[in-house]
Amino acid sequence: MSQPNCSTSSLSSNGRVIPKCGHNVSMKLFVSKSVANPGRKYWKCKFWGKGDDCNAFVWDDEFYDDFGDNGHSDVVSVELMSKLERDIALKMEAMEKKMDELKKKLNYVLVGFICLLVHFLLSSCKNS
Ligand SMILES: [Zn+2]
Repeated sequence: MSQPNCSTSSLSSNGRVIPKCGHNVSMKLFVSKSVANPGRKYWKCKFWGKGDDCNAFVWDDEFYDDFGDNGHSDVVSVELMSKLERDIALKMEAMEKKMDELKKKLNYVLVGFICLLVHFLLSSCKNS
């Protein structure tokens, strides 16, 4: 990969705007080798895979189709937001599952407690 360092300019070699990531730096262009999108170009955070990347990702064609040359920072934040939203939704789901389990456990405890209470009341009635 011999990508020129374009940090001083926000225009790519063909004069189009380079999307910016959460670091507010120009993203890097890659070509997909996946089965679903072979040869499709996409932009990723420069620091991708180096530990401090911001998970910014956008398909090249979607970036220019949806926002033209003006919305370069918007599209990235939209991508970031949808990723965050998915993360939060997943976490919420896990939380709800845990809450359900907790409720079930609480019901068992409650039933046990009521049984104990009834037992106690019955035995105290017998004694008096
Ligand atoms: Zn970044």
